[in-house]
Amino acid sequence: MKAAAFDYVKPASLTEALRLLAEAGEEARLIAGGQTLLATLNMRLSEPSVLIDITNLSELKGIQLNGKQLRIGALVTHTEIEESDLITKHAPLLKAAAPHIAHRAIRNLGTWGGSLAYGDPAAEWPACSLALNATMIIHGPAGERKIAAKDFFVDLYTTSLEPDDILVATEIPVPDSSQVFCFQELARRHGDYAVAGLAAVAQKQGAVLTQCQLIFFSVGATPLTAVKTQALIDGKKLNEQLIADAVKVVREEIEVIADLTNSAEAKQHLVGVLLERALKQMIV
Ligand SMILES: Cc1cc2nc3c(=O)[nH]c(=O)nc-3n(C[C@H](O)[C@H](O)[C@H](O)COP(=O)(O)OP(=O)(O)OC[C@H]3O[C@@H](n4cnc5c(N)ncnc54)[C@H](O)[C@@H]3O)c2cc1C
Repeated sequence: MKAAAFDYVKPASLTEALRLLAEAGEEARLIAGGQTLLATLNMRLSEPSVLIDITNLSELKGIQLNGKQLRIGALVTHTEIEESDLITKHAPLLKAAAPHIAHRAIRNLGTWGGSLAYGDPAAEWPACSLALNATMIIHGPAGERKIAAKDFFVDLYTTSLEPDDILVATEIPVPDSSQVFCFQELARRHGDYAVAGLAAVAQKQGAVLTQCQLIFFSVGATPLTAVKTQALIDGKKLNEQLIADAVKVVREEIEVIADLTNSAEAKQHLVGVLLERALKQMIV
């Protein structure tokens, strides 16, 4: 199939892009890397009358360290994240996750902001943004607002972005030296979307983890936080028994949904496998 006919505009500034978006309303779609949108247009799952290409907007580009916040522009590609020294130093979870996203050709074009805005529950970046307590910087008709990642992913492919909003960047707090992380993903082949995945971050002192963020993806309608499991682990000495208890609790707590090829039972089992691997890795 071919996409339906549409107009195409490429604004030079964020102000102009917001004006065009406000004028066109729900008839418009932003296009960044196009790695998701072009497929939905070609399959006619989406038939916008105008595409607004945001790839010229300098406000959405680059990775910067601003005091204690790492700012990742919405147009930063998956490859730029994978290769950035600032990311390696201040958000190593993202560096670990990036190679799991599709293949190099897609990572060279697909963007951080496009992935977050699309809100695919199987995608790596939404889960990582939750694990890292990220804040979304959004510009809309009323100016700038900030939304915590925990309030951003609302439902299946649904975020708190309004049709006339543009996700400009994300801020991530810079960790101290006691932060540990683990990224685990189970996929049929490298580059496939995950059957199940886990983005985990915690503070570590000896064998004790605190402030755990355990975010599972590709198991529900949104990335899912294992709140009860986090509370069980928090502040206790992590040993074989606590890990076994945590695996039991996480399998009860995470309400998995089957997908086309994997049953809910299989995913529920994998949630426990991922947690056990992550806890053992983080405590070493
Ligand atoms: C074969 C294949 C395999 C893939 N595998 C994976 C995978 O394993 N893991 C994974 O996470 N992804 C995967 N992807 C998706 C890829 O990572 C996309 O790049 C990403 O999901 C969307 O980024 P994009 O820049 O291409 O967005 P686009 O396709 O340009 O846009 C996606 C949506 O986000 C909106 N949007 C884009 N930018 C903004 C913004 N700044 N503000 C507001 N709305 C915005 C667009 O309007 C559109 O609705 C795969 C894609 C393909 C084609």
